[in-house]
Amino acid sequence: CGIVGYIGKRDVAPLLLEGLQRLEYRGYDSAGLVITSPKATGLRMVKAKGRVRELEARVPKRFAGTTGIAHTRWATHGAPSDENAHPHLSTGGEVAVVHNGIIDNASELRARLEAEGVVFASETDTEVLTHLIARSAAATLEEKVRHALKVVEGTYGIAVMHADFNDRIVVARNGSPVVLGIGEKEMFVASDVAALITHTRQIVTLDDGEMATLKADDFRTYTTEGSTTTATPTTVEWEA
Ligand code: GLU
Repeated sequence: CGIVGYIGKRDVAPLLLEGLQRLEYRGYDSAGLVITSPKATGLRMVKAKGRVRELEARVPKRFAGTTGIAHTRWATHGAPSDENAHPHLSTGGEVAVVHNGIIDNASELRARLEAEGVVFASETDTEVLTHLIARSAAATLEEKVRHALKVVEGTYGIAVMHADFNDRIVVARNGSPVVLGIGEKEMFVASDVAALITHTRQIVTLDDGEMATLKADDFRTYTTEGSTTTATPTTVEWEA
């Protein structure tokens, strides 16, 4: 349903929670977030069925990070629950994915992965993406995500983090909106400008079939085939 992400220097958990609150008007049944920082080893995740404030209540006191992605879920595959809330982690916990949309061939991909020994932690269509990305032999996170997207059919706006590539967030769009917010040594991503507008008005809207890599001081866009696209930020006017 809703996606928010941030990479920069600020304390990320409060930023993500605030962004999720701005997306609450869209409706949702659960929420979650995952964070890291350049110094951290690994990803830290919190999820909760119910409201964003219930998620907030579960965020530990010491939960420092400067990179993160968050989600409000409107269930399509699997009942609303803590387990089915996004983000979804790979088995080793190194890959985290938040996803809006529907993966049409998820049950077929899930059966194939289970036959290879993968144990699923949720009933969602989304979780196949985390395992496909984690199991890709490609050298870069961008290529791992492209490999996964080649085999999935359906609609998605996704944001991906990887513990071994914790200087970036990779995002992709096909049929579900993704907008980038360009800041000063910080970058935002969301499914809806409403979540970004208090932080930056420099917006890049991804097209279907387009991906982006966000780093704290830089971003680039390219197609799911890997060719570079030009993305010029536009200034959005917004009456608060
Ligand atoms: N299909 C996914 C799920 O059921 C994502 C739903 C959404 O867009 O929130 O978990």
